[in-house]
Amino acid sequence: MSMNPKLFIPGPTHVSEDILKALSKPQIGHRTPEISVLINELVDGIQKILYTKNNIYLVSHAATGLWEMGTRNSVTKGVLHAVNGAFSSKWALSSESCGFNTERIDFNWGDGISMSQVDRLLSTNKFNVFAMVHNETSTGAMSNLEELSDMLNSKYPDVIWLVDAVSSMAGAKIEVDRLGIDFLLSSTQKAWGLPAGFSICSVSNRLIELSKSIENKGYFLDILVYEKYFQKSQTPTTPSIPHMYALKEMIEKIFNEGLEVRWERHAKMAEYTRNWANNRGQKLFTSLNALSNTLTCIDNTQNWDINKINEQLLQRGYRMDRGYGKYRGKAFRIPHMGNIYMDDLIDYLNAFEEVLCQLKY
Ligand code: PLP
Repeated sequence: MSMNPKLFIPGPTHVSEDILKALSKPQIGHRTPEISVLINELVDGIQKILYTKNNIYLVSHAATGLWEMGTRNSVTKGVLHAVNGAFSSKWALSSESCGFNTERIDFNWGDGISMSQVDRLLSTNKFNVFAMVHNETSTGAMSNLEELSDMLNSKYPDVIWLVDAVSSMAGAKIEVDRLGIDFLLSSTQKAWGLPAGFSICSVSNRLIELSKSIENKGYFLDILVYEKYFQKSQTPTTPSIPHMYALKEMIEKIFNEGLEVRWERHAKMAEYTRNWANNRGQKLFTSLNALSNTLTCIDNTQNWDINKINEQLLQRGYRMDRGYGKYRGKAFRIPHMGNIYMDDLIDYLNAFEEVLCQLKY
């Protein structure tokens, strides 16, 4: 088995040599002019990638913390959670454990979020916040932000919209300002192609204003504390500077490739993977109207022995995904994001083919 198998799991994703090198640059002080130059470059790049003028906060912890940053700074009446997989379910749990008036709308796992059901619940006027996961990493379901945006903007303009884009930000086009997303969050170990432990969010002005009226948010996740330091081009606490250097490198790579080319490439990699699965007699786990561009979830209808395939792929230098939680062995996922390009994907699927032939599938 290879000591460092190339990661083909949907996070953490493979980190390429250039990014590893950027992570090892010398440290700088976090209250110096140098850090502010770096932060300004990062914020400017991220705003372009997210098509937004909203403020961008850089945080040195997992995205799970940002779920609570979003809710603690916004929920007054109540929060409605769309739940269509493991991560959206955990986010709802986080709101329940914060003591918010929380309700969930449950969708089948593998489905996208249906606008009409969200509409029905928001019309009860019980909620001032709507929270959802754009790309459910557990099932490969990418929901349609366009139609949700139309409905929210036309019928519920006062509702604050929180969106988890942990496995889609930087891998799919999300036009924050045009869609009207108040809070978009992600960590860096998926489509950003960096190690875990660092996160990014965009925050609308009206969310900052709303936060001013909310008490007892604690200190660590208070948007007003972040905002104060954002205005100085700093972060409230000592940040992970290696991540910041790596992010700078990644942003340069993204602009060298070009945004539209990048989104298109992800769509092509997704299509290639889906065709491969279909040609191999498997079915897609995810509903056809919610297929993700950053990962593909395959229903193992052919009953391949996923553990055996895993062993063989490890010997060929790859770490595969064997399915999330209750779907282990029954559905497995192929990521095509981060530092995975078409050539990497083709190499991986060729290795997968060799294993399938060897196992006589
Ligand atoms: N949201 C989604 C959609 C995820 O896939 C994950 C992790 O896989 C998370 C949130 C949690 O991210 P983190 O581990 O950075 O807290």
